[in-house]
Amino acid sequence: MNFLFDLSTLFCLVSSIAFAIILLYSTLVFYFENEKKAAIRALLIGLLLPIPYFVAWYYNYNILALILLIDLILTGLLFIYPFKTPQNICDETPLNKIDERNIMFSRNELIVGSENYKNYYLKYPEKEELDNAFRKEAGLCSEKSLFNHSFAFAATHASFFAIEQFKKAVDGAVNPSRTKTDSEKMSSFLKAWGKKLGALDIDFCELKDYHFYSHKGRGDEYGNEIHNSHSHAIAFTVEMNEEMVQSAPQASIVMESAQQYLDSGRIAIQIAEFLRHLGYSARAHIDGNYQLVCPLVARDAGLGEIGRMGLLMTPKQGPRIRLGVVTTEFPLKTKDRKKLNHMLDFCLNCKKCADVCPSKSISSDAPKMVDGVKRWQINSESCFTYWCKAGTDCGRCMATCPYSHPDNLLHNAIRFGIKHSPLFRRIAAPLDDFFYGRKPKSKKLPGWMN
Ligand code: SF4
Ligand code: SF4
Repeated sequence: MNFLFDLSTLFCLVSSIAFAIILLYSTLVFYFENEKKAAIRALLIGLLLPIPYFVAWYYNYNILALILLIDLILTGLLFIYPFKTPQNICDETPLNKIDERNIMFSRNELIVGSENYKNYYLKYPEKEELDNAFRKEAGLCSEKSLFNHSFAFAATHASFFAIEQFKKAVDGAVNPSRTKTDSEKMSSFLKAWGKKLGALDIDFCELKDYHFYSHKGRGDEYGNEIHNSHSHAIAFTVEMNEEMVQSAPQASIVMESAQQYLDSGRIAIQIAEFLRHLGYSARAHIDGNYQLVCPLVARDAGLGEIGRMGLLMTPKQGPRIRLGVVTTEFPLKTKDRKKLNHMLDFCLNCKKCADVCPSKSISSDAPKMVDGVKRWQINSESCFTYWCKAGTDCGRCMATCPYSHPDNLLHNAIRFGIKHSPLFRRIAAPLDDFFYGRKPKSKKLPGWMN
Protein backbone atom coordinates (compact mmCIF):
# COMPACT_ATOMS: atom_id res chain seq x y z
CA MET A 1 0.00 0.00 0.00
CA ASN A 2 2.83 2.36 0.92
CA PHE A 3 4.30 1.81 -2.52
CA LEU A 4 0.96 2.82 -4.09
CA PHE A 5 0.80 5.96 -1.95
CA ASP A 6 4.40 6.85 -2.83
CA LEU A 7 3.62 6.32 -6.49
CA SER A 8 0.47 8.49 -6.26
CA THR A 9 2.27 11.40 -4.61
CA LEU A 10 5.12 11.20 -7.12
CA PHE A 11 2.53 11.13 -9.91
CA CYS A 12 0.96 14.28 -8.41
CA LEU A 13 4.28 16.10 -8.50
CA VAL A 14 4.89 15.10 -12.15
CA SER A 15 1.30 15.97 -13.14
CA SER A 16 1.36 19.40 -11.52
CA ILE A 17 4.60 20.24 -13.33
CA ALA A 18 3.28 18.83 -16.65
CA PHE A 19 -0.04 20.74 -16.42
CA ALA A 20 1.78 23.95 -15.56
CA ILE A 21 4.22 23.57 -18.48
CA ILE A 22 1.47 22.73 -21.02
CA LEU A 23 -0.72 25.63 -19.97
CA LEU A 24 2.13 28.12 -19.76
CA TYR A 25 3.22 27.06 -23.24
CA SER A 26 -0.40 27.52 -24.43
CA THR A 27 -0.42 30.98 -22.81
CA LEU A 28 2.65 31.95 -24.82
CA VAL A 29 1.17 30.56 -28.05
CA PHE A 30 -2.06 32.55 -27.52
CA TYR A 31 -0.06 35.65 -26.58
CA PHE A 32 1.99 35.51 -29.79
CA GLU A 33 -1.21 34.88 -31.77
CA ASN A 34 -2.39 38.18 -30.26
CA GLU A 35 -5.25 36.35 -28.54
CA LYS A 36 -5.08 38.17 -25.21
CA LYS A 37 -8.32 36.77 -23.76
CA ALA A 38 -7.24 33.22 -24.60
CA ALA A 39 -3.79 33.86 -23.08
CA ILE A 40 -5.28 35.12 -19.79
CA ARG A 41 -7.64 32.13 -19.60
CA ALA A 42 -4.82 29.66 -20.26
CA LEU A 43 -2.65 31.38 -17.65
CA LEU A 44 -5.40 31.24 -15.01
CA ILE A 45 -6.04 27.55 -15.68
CA GLY A 46 -2.28 26.99 -15.69
CA LEU A 47 -2.09 28.52 -12.19
CA LEU A 48 -5.20 26.82 -10.76
CA LEU A 49 -5.21 23.32 -12.26
CA PRO A 50 -1.91 22.10 -10.79
CA ILE A 51 -2.85 23.24 -7.24
CA PRO A 52 -4.61 20.05 -5.99
CA TYR A 53 -1.83 17.88 -7.46
CA PHE A 54 0.86 20.06 -5.92
CA VAL A 55 -0.89 20.17 -2.52
CA ALA A 56 -1.30 16.36 -2.52
CA TRP A 57 2.41 15.95 -3.15
CA TYR A 58 3.67 18.75 -0.92
CA TYR A 59 1.62 17.80 2.17
CA ASN A 60 1.83 14.10 1.40
CA TYR A 61 -1.98 13.67 1.33
CA ASN A 62 -1.90 10.04 0.26
CA ILE A 63 -5.65 9.54 -0.19
CA LEU A 64 -6.07 12.71 -2.24
CA ALA A 65 -3.09 11.69 -4.38
CA LEU A 66 -4.61 8.25 -4.98
CA ILE A 67 -8.00 9.75 -5.94
CA LEU A 68 -6.32 12.14 -8.38
CA LEU A 69 -4.30 9.29 -9.90
CA ILE A 70 -7.41 7.10 -10.38
CA ASP A 71 -9.36 10.07 -11.77
CA LEU A 72 -6.68 10.84 -14.33
CA ILE A 73 -6.35 7.20 -15.41
CA LEU A 74 -10.12 6.87 -15.89
CA THR A 75 -10.32 10.14 -17.82
CA GLY A 76 -7.39 9.04 -20.00
CA LEU A 77 -9.11 5.70 -20.68
CA LEU A 78 -12.30 7.51 -21.70
CA PHE A 79 -10.38 9.61 -24.18
CA ILE A 80 -8.72 6.61 -25.80
CA TYR A 81 -11.89 4.48 -25.79
CA PRO A 82 -12.66 3.69 -29.46
CA PHE A 83 -16.19 5.16 -29.64
CA LYS A 84 -17.59 4.74 -33.16
CA THR A 85 -16.97 7.43 -35.78
CA PRO A 86 -19.82 7.65 -38.33
CA GLN A 87 -18.58 6.49 -41.73
CA ASN A 88 -21.19 7.88 -44.10
CA ILE A 89 -21.66 11.51 -43.11
CA CYS A 90 -21.26 12.67 -46.72
CA ASP A 91 -21.47 10.81 -50.02
CA GLU A 92 -18.33 10.58 -52.10
CA THR A 93 -19.26 10.70 -55.75
CA PRO A 94 -21.35 13.37 -57.48
CA LEU A 95 -23.90 11.84 -59.83
CA ASN A 96 -23.66 14.56 -62.46
CA LYS A 97 -21.02 16.88 -63.81
CA ILE A 98 -21.27 20.50 -62.69
CA ASP A 99 -21.84 23.10 -65.41
CA GLU A 100 -19.32 25.92 -64.81
CA ARG A 101 -21.87 28.41 -66.14
CA ASN A 102 -23.82 27.91 -62.91
CA ILE A 103 -21.08 29.00 -60.52
CA MET A 104 -21.23 32.53 -59.14
CA PHE A 105 -18.02 33.75 -60.82
CA SER A 106 -19.47 32.83 -64.21
CA ARG A 107 -22.80 34.47 -63.47
CA ASN A 108 -20.98 37.58 -62.26
CA GLU A 109 -19.17 37.79 -65.60
CA LEU A 110 -22.40 37.82 -67.64
CA ILE A 111 -22.89 41.22 -69.24
CA VAL A 112 -26.46 42.42 -68.76
CA GLY A 113 -28.34 42.26 -72.07
CA SER A 114 -25.68 40.14 -73.85
CA GLU A 115 -26.63 36.93 -75.73
CA ASN A 116 -25.05 34.80 -73.02
CA TYR A 117 -26.97 36.71 -70.36
CA LYS A 118 -30.30 36.27 -72.16
CA ASN A 119 -29.70 32.59 -72.88
CA TYR A 120 -28.61 31.85 -69.34
CA TYR A 121 -31.66 33.38 -67.64
CA LEU A 122 -33.97 31.93 -70.28
CA LYS A 123 -32.76 28.55 -69.10
CA TYR A 124 -32.69 29.46 -65.39
CA PRO A 125 -35.30 32.24 -64.91
CA GLU A 126 -35.41 31.58 -61.14
CA LYS A 127 -31.76 32.64 -60.83
CA GLU A 128 -32.16 36.11 -62.36
CA GLU A 129 -33.76 37.70 -59.30
CA LEU A 130 -31.20 36.08 -57.01
CA ASP A 131 -28.37 37.37 -59.17
CA ASN A 132 -29.83 40.86 -59.42
CA ALA A 133 -29.27 41.07 -55.65
CA PHE A 134 -25.48 40.89 -56.06
CA ARG A 135 -25.61 43.17 -59.14
CA LYS A 136 -27.17 45.89 -56.95
CA GLU A 137 -24.18 45.84 -54.57
CA ALA A 138 -20.95 47.80 -55.02
CA GLY A 139 -18.98 44.80 -56.30
CA LEU A 140 -15.66 43.09 -55.60
CA CYS A 141 -12.79 45.53 -54.94
CA SER A 142 -15.11 48.50 -55.46
CA GLU A 143 -14.31 51.79 -53.78
CA LYS A 144 -17.95 51.96 -52.71
CA SER A 145 -17.76 48.62 -50.89
CA LEU A 146 -17.80 48.19 -47.11
CA PHE A 147 -14.11 47.36 -46.77
CA ASN A 148 -12.67 49.62 -49.41
CA HIS A 149 -8.86 49.81 -49.17
CA SER A 150 -7.30 51.38 -52.21
CA PHE A 151 -3.82 49.82 -51.78
CA ALA A 152 -5.13 46.33 -51.00
CA PHE A 153 -7.56 46.44 -53.92
CA ALA A 154 -4.82 47.67 -56.24
CA ALA A 155 -2.57 44.83 -55.01
CA THR A 156 -5.41 42.38 -55.65
CA HIS A 157 -5.84 43.78 -59.13
CA ALA A 158 -2.08 43.41 -59.71
CA SER A 159 -2.17 39.71 -58.75
CA PHE A 160 -5.17 39.03 -61.01
CA PHE A 161 -3.43 40.97 -63.79
CA ALA A 162 -0.42 38.64 -63.46
CA ILE A 163 -2.70 35.57 -63.45
CA GLU A 164 -4.27 36.87 -66.66
CA GLN A 165 -0.80 36.80 -68.30
CA PHE A 166 -0.46 33.14 -67.29
CA LYS A 167 -3.66 32.08 -69.00
CA LYS A 168 -2.12 31.56 -72.43
CA ALA A 169 0.47 29.23 -70.86
CA VAL A 170 -1.93 26.72 -69.31
CA ASP A 171 -1.53 24.46 -72.32
CA GLY A 172 1.05 24.22 -75.08
CA ALA A 173 3.00 22.12 -77.54
CA VAL A 174 4.24 18.76 -76.34
CA ASN A 175 7.86 17.82 -77.03
CA PRO A 176 7.72 15.11 -79.75
CA SER A 177 10.81 13.51 -78.26
CA ARG A 178 9.54 11.76 -75.14
CA THR A 179 11.79 11.06 -72.14
CA LYS A 180 11.00 7.56 -70.92
CA THR A 181 10.71 7.29 -67.15
CA ASP A 182 8.83 5.22 -64.62
CA SER A 183 5.86 6.31 -62.58
CA GLU A 184 7.63 5.98 -59.22
CA LYS A 185 10.52 8.22 -60.22
CA MET A 186 8.33 10.91 -61.80
CA SER A 187 5.88 10.91 -58.89
CA SER A 188 8.53 11.32 -56.22
CA PHE A 189 10.28 14.06 -58.23
CA LEU A 190 7.02 15.96 -58.68
CA LYS A 191 6.19 15.75 -54.97
CA ALA A 192 9.58 17.04 -53.90
CA TRP A 193 9.82 19.71 -56.61
CA GLY A 194 6.23 20.86 -56.05
CA LYS A 195 7.04 21.53 -52.39
CA LYS A 196 10.22 23.34 -53.37
CA LEU A 197 8.14 25.52 -55.68
CA GLY A 198 5.96 26.50 -52.73
CA ALA A 199 3.24 23.84 -52.48
CA LEU A 200 2.31 22.86 -48.96
CA ASP A 201 1.07 19.41 -49.85
CA ILE A 202 0.87 17.63 -53.19
CA ASP A 203 -0.55 14.30 -54.35
CA PHE A 204 -2.11 12.56 -57.34
CA CYS A 205 -5.33 10.84 -58.38
CA GLU A 206 -6.85 9.17 -61.39
CA LEU A 207 -9.32 11.43 -63.15
CA LYS A 208 -13.00 10.56 -63.21
CA ASP A 209 -15.81 12.05 -65.27
CA TYR A 210 -17.32 13.85 -62.28
CA HIS A 211 -14.11 15.83 -61.72
CA PHE A 212 -14.73 17.82 -64.91
CA TYR A 213 -17.18 20.63 -65.51
CA SER A 214 -19.60 19.80 -68.31
CA HIS A 215 -19.21 23.24 -70.00
CA LYS A 216 -16.91 26.23 -69.72
CA GLY A 217 -18.49 29.15 -67.89
CA ARG A 218 -15.77 31.77 -68.05
CA GLY A 219 -13.68 33.49 -70.68
CA ASP A 220 -13.64 33.16 -74.46
CA GLU A 221 -14.68 29.50 -74.43
CA TYR A 222 -17.98 30.24 -72.61
CA GLY A 223 -20.52 27.53 -73.31
CA ASN A 224 -18.07 25.09 -74.93
CA GLU A 225 -18.32 21.49 -73.88
CA ILE A 226 -15.22 20.40 -71.97
CA HIS A 227 -13.05 17.70 -73.52
CA ASN A 228 -10.00 16.55 -71.65
CA SER A 229 -8.50 13.13 -72.30
CA HIS A 230 -5.96 13.21 -69.45
CA SER A 231 -5.96 10.24 -67.13
CA HIS A 232 -4.26 11.67 -64.04
CA ALA A 233 -4.17 14.83 -61.95
CA ILE A 234 -1.61 16.48 -59.72
CA ALA A 235 -3.34 18.42 -56.95
CA PHE A 236 -1.59 20.71 -54.50
CA THR A 237 -2.32 23.24 -51.81
CA VAL A 238 -0.70 26.60 -51.07
CA GLU A 239 -1.10 28.24 -47.68
CA MET A 240 -3.02 31.47 -47.07
CA ASN A 241 -1.13 33.68 -44.62
CA GLU A 242 -2.72 33.43 -41.15
CA GLU A 243 -2.44 37.12 -40.31
CA MET A 244 -4.02 38.17 -43.61
CA VAL A 245 -6.88 35.69 -43.10
CA GLN A 246 -7.55 36.67 -39.48
CA SER A 247 -8.68 40.16 -40.47
CA ALA A 248 -11.29 38.78 -42.87
CA PRO A 249 -13.67 40.05 -44.20
CA GLN A 250 -11.50 43.18 -44.45
CA ALA A 251 -9.39 43.85 -47.52
CA SER A 252 -6.41 41.68 -46.48
CA ILE A 253 -8.40 38.55 -47.34
CA VAL A 254 -9.03 39.35 -50.99
CA MET A 255 -5.43 40.50 -51.39
CA GLU A 256 -4.17 37.22 -49.93
CA SER A 257 -6.61 35.11 -51.98
CA ALA A 258 -5.43 36.77 -55.18
CA GLN A 259 -1.78 36.28 -54.14
CA GLN A 260 -2.32 32.58 -53.51
CA TYR A 261 -4.30 32.12 -56.75
CA LEU A 262 -1.26 33.60 -58.44
CA ASP A 263 1.21 31.40 -56.57
CA SER A 264 -0.80 28.23 -57.21
CA GLY A 265 -1.21 29.27 -60.85
CA ARG A 266 2.53 29.82 -61.25
CA ILE A 267 3.32 26.41 -59.76
CA ALA A 268 0.69 24.71 -61.96
CA ILE A 269 2.08 26.38 -65.09
CA GLN A 270 5.62 25.26 -64.21
CA ILE A 271 4.56 21.65 -63.57
CA ALA A 272 2.48 21.46 -66.76
CA GLU A 273 5.30 22.87 -68.91
CA PHE A 274 7.79 20.49 -67.23
CA LEU A 275 5.64 17.50 -68.25
CA ARG A 276 5.13 18.77 -71.80
CA HIS A 277 8.88 19.32 -72.12
CA LEU A 278 9.40 15.67 -71.21
CA GLY A 279 6.94 14.67 -73.95
CA TYR A 280 3.69 14.22 -71.98
CA SER A 281 0.61 16.28 -72.60
CA ALA A 282 -0.39 18.35 -69.54
CA ARG A 283 -2.67 21.29 -68.72
CA ALA A 284 -2.59 23.69 -65.80
CA HIS A 285 -5.92 24.63 -64.24
CA ILE A 286 -5.61 28.12 -62.81
CA ASP A 287 -7.94 30.84 -61.55
CA GLY A 288 -10.49 31.80 -64.19
CA ASN A 289 -9.42 29.00 -66.52
CA TYR A 290 -10.48 25.71 -65.01
CA GLN A 291 -11.82 22.63 -66.72
CA LEU A 292 -12.49 20.83 -63.47
CA VAL A 293 -13.66 21.22 -59.90
CA CYS A 294 -10.42 21.57 -57.95
CA PRO A 295 -11.78 20.66 -54.46
CA LEU A 296 -13.11 17.33 -55.78
CA VAL A 297 -9.80 16.48 -57.42
CA ALA A 298 -7.79 17.53 -54.35
CA ARG A 299 -10.06 15.49 -52.09
CA ASP A 300 -9.65 12.40 -54.26
CA ALA A 301 -5.89 12.94 -54.27
CA GLY A 302 -6.11 12.58 -50.49
CA LEU A 303 -5.38 16.20 -49.53
CA GLY A 304 -8.45 16.68 -47.32
CA GLU A 305 -12.23 16.58 -47.08
CA ILE A 306 -14.96 18.92 -48.24
CA GLY A 307 -16.55 20.19 -45.05
CA ARG A 308 -19.55 22.20 -43.95
CA MET A 309 -18.43 25.43 -45.64
CA GLY A 310 -18.06 23.66 -49.00
CA LEU A 311 -14.30 24.22 -49.22
CA LEU A 312 -11.54 21.65 -49.09
CA MET A 313 -10.32 21.34 -45.51
CA THR A 314 -6.86 19.91 -45.05
CA PRO A 315 -5.87 18.13 -41.83
CA LYS A 316 -3.27 20.77 -40.89
CA GLN A 317 -4.37 24.14 -42.31
CA GLY A 318 -8.09 23.40 -42.63
CA PRO A 319 -9.69 25.62 -45.28
CA ARG A 320 -6.85 28.20 -45.01
CA ILE A 321 -5.41 27.13 -48.36
CA ARG A 322 -5.84 27.60 -52.11
CA LEU A 323 -5.65 24.82 -54.64
CA GLY A 324 -3.87 24.16 -57.89
CA VAL A 325 -4.36 21.27 -60.30
CA VAL A 326 -2.49 19.97 -63.34
CA THR A 327 -3.96 17.23 -65.52
CA THR A 328 -1.74 14.97 -67.59
CA GLU A 329 -1.58 11.80 -69.64
CA PHE A 330 1.41 10.62 -67.58
CA PRO A 331 0.34 7.63 -65.40
CA LEU A 332 1.32 8.95 -61.98
CA LYS A 333 1.55 6.74 -58.94
CA THR A 334 -1.74 6.95 -57.05
CA LYS A 335 -2.93 5.27 -53.90
CA ASP A 336 -6.37 4.40 -52.54
CA ARG A 337 -7.80 7.41 -50.75
CA LYS A 338 -8.51 7.04 -47.06
CA LYS A 339 -11.66 8.99 -46.22
CA LEU A 340 -10.98 11.39 -43.34
CA ASN A 341 -14.18 10.61 -41.43
CA HIS A 342 -12.89 12.27 -38.27
CA MET A 343 -12.85 15.65 -40.08
CA LEU A 344 -16.44 15.28 -41.28
CA ASP A 345 -17.48 14.08 -37.82
CA PHE A 346 -15.88 17.17 -36.28
CA CYS A 347 -17.70 19.38 -38.81
CA LEU A 348 -20.97 17.71 -37.96
CA ASN A 349 -20.80 19.07 -34.39
CA CYS A 350 -18.65 22.19 -34.64
CA LYS A 351 -20.87 24.50 -36.79
CA LYS A 352 -18.73 27.52 -35.94
CA CYS A 353 -18.58 28.70 -39.56
CA ALA A 354 -22.40 28.63 -39.74
CA ASP A 355 -22.61 30.83 -36.65
CA VAL A 356 -20.11 33.45 -37.82
CA CYS A 357 -21.20 33.75 -41.46
CA PRO A 358 -22.42 37.34 -41.89
CA SER A 359 -24.86 36.35 -44.64
CA LYS A 360 -26.11 33.15 -42.94
CA SER A 361 -25.13 31.19 -46.03
CA ILE A 362 -23.82 28.12 -44.19
CA SER A 363 -26.28 25.58 -42.87
CA SER A 364 -26.11 24.30 -39.27
CA ASP A 365 -27.91 21.13 -40.29
CA ALA A 366 -26.52 17.71 -41.06
CA PRO A 367 -25.70 17.05 -44.74
CA LYS A 368 -28.76 16.76 -46.99
CA MET A 369 -29.47 15.20 -50.37
CA VAL A 370 -28.45 17.63 -53.12
CA ASP A 371 -28.88 16.29 -56.67
CA GLY A 372 -28.97 12.74 -55.31
CA VAL A 373 -25.83 13.13 -53.20
CA LYS A 374 -25.66 13.61 -49.42
CA ARG A 375 -23.47 16.63 -48.69
CA TRP A 376 -23.32 20.13 -47.25
CA GLN A 377 -24.15 22.94 -49.61
CA ILE A 378 -23.79 26.62 -48.85
CA ASN A 379 -26.12 29.28 -50.26
CA SER A 380 -23.71 30.55 -52.89
CA GLU A 381 -26.03 33.38 -53.98
CA SER A 382 -26.27 35.01 -50.53
CA CYS A 383 -22.55 34.40 -49.94
CA PHE A 384 -21.59 36.08 -53.21
CA THR A 385 -24.01 38.95 -52.59
CA TYR A 386 -22.19 39.60 -49.32
CA TRP A 387 -18.85 39.53 -51.17
CA CYS A 388 -20.14 42.23 -53.51
CA LYS A 389 -21.26 44.32 -50.55
CA ALA A 390 -18.00 43.80 -48.63
CA GLY A 391 -15.83 44.25 -51.73
CA THR A 392 -13.79 41.22 -50.65
CA ASP A 393 -14.20 37.46 -50.75
CA CYS A 394 -15.19 37.63 -47.04
CA GLY A 395 -13.50 34.47 -45.70
CA ARG A 396 -14.92 34.92 -42.19
CA CYS A 397 -15.75 31.19 -42.18
CA MET A 398 -12.17 30.33 -43.12
CA ALA A 399 -10.75 32.65 -40.44
CA THR A 400 -12.77 31.12 -37.59
CA CYS A 401 -12.61 27.42 -38.49
CA PRO A 402 -10.76 25.63 -35.66
CA TYR A 403 -8.79 23.75 -38.31
CA SER A 404 -7.35 27.04 -39.62
CA HIS A 405 -5.15 27.67 -36.56
CA PRO A 406 -1.41 27.87 -37.19
CA ASP A 407 0.76 24.80 -37.64
CA ASN A 408 2.42 24.57 -34.21
CA LEU A 409 2.80 22.05 -31.38
CA LEU A 410 -0.31 23.19 -29.48
CA HIS A 411 -2.69 23.14 -32.44
CA ASN A 412 -1.15 19.99 -33.86
CA ALA A 413 -1.69 18.24 -30.53
CA ILE A 414 -5.36 19.29 -30.70
CA ARG A 415 -5.60 18.07 -34.32
CA PHE A 416 -4.06 14.77 -33.16
CA GLY A 417 -6.73 14.51 -30.45
CA ILE A 418 -9.50 15.28 -32.96
CA LYS A 419 -8.18 12.61 -35.30
CA HIS A 420 -7.72 9.83 -32.78
CA SER A 421 -10.26 10.39 -30.01
CA PRO A 422 -13.99 10.59 -30.76
CA LEU A 423 -14.57 11.95 -27.24
CA PHE A 424 -11.92 14.65 -27.63
CA ARG A 425 -13.58 15.54 -30.96
CA ARG A 426 -16.75 16.42 -29.02
CA ILE A 427 -14.99 18.77 -26.61
CA ALA A 428 -12.50 20.35 -29.06
CA ALA A 429 -15.05 22.78 -30.55
CA PRO A 430 -16.34 24.01 -27.14
CA LEU A 431 -12.68 24.34 -26.07
CA ASP A 432 -11.99 26.43 -29.16
CA ASP A 433 -15.01 28.58 -28.25
CA PHE A 434 -13.76 28.95 -24.67
CA PHE A 435 -10.37 30.29 -25.75
CA TYR A 436 -11.14 32.08 -29.03
CA GLY A 437 -14.86 32.86 -28.58
CA ARG A 438 -17.85 31.35 -30.40
CA LYS A 439 -18.03 34.31 -32.77
CA PRO A 440 -14.54 35.79 -32.68
CA LYS A 441 -14.22 39.34 -33.91
CA SER A 442 -12.27 40.14 -37.03
CA LYS A 443 -8.68 41.13 -36.14
CA LYS A 444 -7.12 44.45 -37.12
CA LEU A 445 -5.44 44.62 -40.53
CA PRO A 446 -1.71 43.87 -40.40
CA GLY A 447 0.09 47.05 -39.28
CA TRP A 448 1.92 47.55 -42.59
CA MET A 449 -1.42 47.82 -44.41
CA ASN A 450 -2.52 50.88 -42.44
S1 SF4 B 1 -15.81 25.84 -38.74
FE1 SF4 B 1 -16.29 23.85 -37.91
S2 SF4 B 1 -18.10 23.19 -39.03
FE2 SF4 B 1 -17.20 24.84 -40.19
S3 SF4 B 1 -15.85 23.85 -41.67
FE3 SF4 B 1 -14.58 24.35 -39.88
S4 SF4 B 1 -14.65 22.49 -38.64
FE4 SF4 B 1 -16.33 22.35 -40.10
S1 SF4 C 1 -17.28 33.57 -47.32
FE1 SF4 C 1 -18.35 34.82 -45.77
S2 SF4 C 1 -20.41 35.05 -46.57
FE2 SF4 C 1 -19.48 33.34 -47.69
S3 SF4 C 1 -20.00 31.51 -46.54
FE3 SF4 C 1 -18.02 32.19 -45.73
S4 SF4 C 1 -18.55 33.52 -43.99
FE4 SF4 C 1 -20.41 33.28 -45.22
